[in-house]
Amino acid sequence: MSDTIERVKCLIIGSGPAGYTAAIYAARANMSPVLYQGTQPGGQLTTTNEVENFPGYPEGVTGPEMMMELQKQAERFEADVRDGWVTKVDFAGDMHKVWVNGEKEIHADTVIISTGASAKYLGLDSEQKYLKLGGGVSACAVCDGFFYRNQEVVIVGAGDSACEEAHYLSKLCKKVTMLVRRDEFRASKIMAQRVKNTENIEILFNTETDEVLGDGQVVHGVRVYNKVTKEKQDIPATGFFVAIGHKPNTDIFKGFLDLDETGYIINVPGTAKTNVEGVFVSGDAADHVYRQAITAAGTGCMAALDAERYLASKDANFEVATPTYN
Ligand code: NDP
Repeated sequence: MSDTIERVKCLIIGSGPAGYTAAIYAARANMSPVLYQGTQPGGQLTTTNEVENFPGYPEGVTGPEMMMELQKQAERFEADVRDGWVTKVDFAGDMHKVWVNGEKEIHADTVIISTGASAKYLGLDSEQKYLKLGGGVSACAVCDGFFYRNQEVVIVGAGDSACEEAHYLSKLCKKVTMLVRRDEFRASKIMAQRVKNTENIEILFNTETDEVLGDGQVVHGVRVYNKVTKEKQDIPATGFFVAIGHKPNTDIFKGFLDLDETGYIINVPGTAKTNVEGVFVSGDAADHVYRQAITAAGTGCMAALDAERYLASKDANFEVATPTYN
């Protein structure tokens, strides 16, 4: 083995709640985990202003603050948290090979994937501006809807997620305007019907977003464009929700792991195991349904426990720290 190749027991890829929780459990189980943070240390939550639904924070906490605390907690047990972006993997052989920043090669007995998913955005300058400012653009109604209680909001998208989120927002907000770019929903009939039956949801078909309007700090409206009539109108709103889908960050695993048609990693039901022995998945990289910080943390724990049991089954000298109950 060349000097430049590092051998680790447990390599964690990604630094959201799933990755850090896996690191906490793996470190406490003597697996000496090495965690690579990726390009967005802290993951999707670092784009969230306030997290109010993660148990244990009665006053709420900002996304970046919570991620810093999770990192500190992992480091307290000597998890090795590093800057770096995993660019390539090779899971074909017995040893799991991973390359960081295109050069450093690591051989890992176990790999925990926590690379998450990224919400898709429209890409408009005004949308990105208010997203970065935390001024009223969000891709998660469950996370941020509460801040728009009794206010008027706009949501874009026509799939099941958009319908579910529009309905969720309708219970909190005074009015929800839903922008559907075609003349029909993509969502299942039942979900679309539920939205249509909700009094305070107005659906604008054939309508696209022209610009998110604001005062430079916060959103106060959305300029929309009707593709049929060619008319523009300004809709007053303090929140602009984007629900046009998510993309799991799993491209580098193609060809090695079983992925579903949209790229989510397929886990063995009820476990964090993938189709490759010794490779585990946690968080949004395998979850297109729940996508919450707390569920990601839960599956991070599962991945570390599964990895620990796998190590114990392969190496008689590895002592299992966590009791097994089955
Ligand atoms: P989808 O890919 O199903 O839908 C994305 C929606 O966003 C489409 O309506 C699409 O429009 C629209 N869209 C995409 N780009 C733009 C754009 N630039 N401007 C305006 N609109 C745009 O994603 P979802 O997240 O809704 O769902 C993902 C998967 O998860 C689906 O399989 C869904 O069924 C499932 N799901 C199931 C739920 C449930 O059963 N409870 C809840 C949530 C999700 P267009 O239709 O014109 O392409």
